[in-house]
Amino acid sequence: MKKLEGKVAVVTGGNSGIGLAAAQQFVLEGAHVFITGRRQSELDTAVKQIGKNVSSVQGDVSHLVDLDRLYAKVKEQKGNIDILFANAGVGEFALLGTITEAQFDKTFGINVKGLLFTVQKALPMFQDSGSIILNASIGGSKGIEATSVYSATKAAIRSFARTWAAELRHRKIRVNAISPGPIDTPAFTGLAQTKEEVEQIKTNLVTKVPLGRMGRPDEVAKAVLFLASDDSSFITGIELFVDGGMTQI
Ligand code: NAD
Repeated sequence: MKKLEGKVAVVTGGNSGIGLAAAQQFVLEGAHVFITGRRQSELDTAVKQIGKNVSSVQGDVSHLVDLDRLYAKVKEQKGNIDILFANAGVGEFALLGTITEAQFDKTFGINVKGLLFTVQKALPMFQDSGSIILNASIGGSKGIEATSVYSATKAAIRSFARTWAAELRHRKIRVNAISPGPIDTPAFTGLAQTKEEVEQIKTNLVTKVPLGRMGRPDEVAKAVLFLASDDSSFITGIELFVDGGMTQI
């Protein structure tokens, strides 16, 4: 039997990178998946790529009305949720001294406020069991230059996993954080002006990874699948690093 047979999953930011890879794993293991993202054209491409048992809902996680629309659609089509992967997130990097109010508000608005309300608004649809996985980052545990704002949002997410694991244990809902290291996704494209600069950023990062390479989205997705499935039935409140050893070594 497949690991998620008959389950209903929601993946925010499921049209790209880690979220898309997780949605693909969930469907392969028998779930019906709702993916969200900001751009309809990218959602349409992702739906084609996933192929079956997938629905898309366009929306911005930092807009609460969009979250209401998402969960109304899930309720109408499936009635409840078993798995939530709160994955949507952004990162803009700036040294202390150059951070703008707009960058701060945008990053906290999506990564912290958006994630909190993604989870809070989903709760009535869980049937006193299930798994919630929050996408944090190794940035939450490390001092990496130019990441003050991004890393602070990810430290907040790691903290949410602890608090919510405590609050939701009575409903048998497990809450865990996943913390990827450098993973080769489209997120890197926006970090520099040219392709060469992007490659330079990746090359520099790889020198800091004990396993000597960037991770692939499917390698994070498999760890998310583990936390989503009953294979992790006695695990709640943890942070699972998928980082080629970068945080520990
Ligand atoms: P990506 O750019 O491929 O995917 C990001 C996804 O988030 C996209 O689907 C995008 O549409 C969605 N998104 C962004 N803002 C949104 C918003 N306001 N509302 C709805 N959706 C929104 O990048 P990725 O690398 O797959 O990133 C996914 C998550 O993984 C992020 O939370 C990121 O911080 C985290 N992460 C990534 C890495 C990495 O190296 N790639 C490392 C650690 C953590």
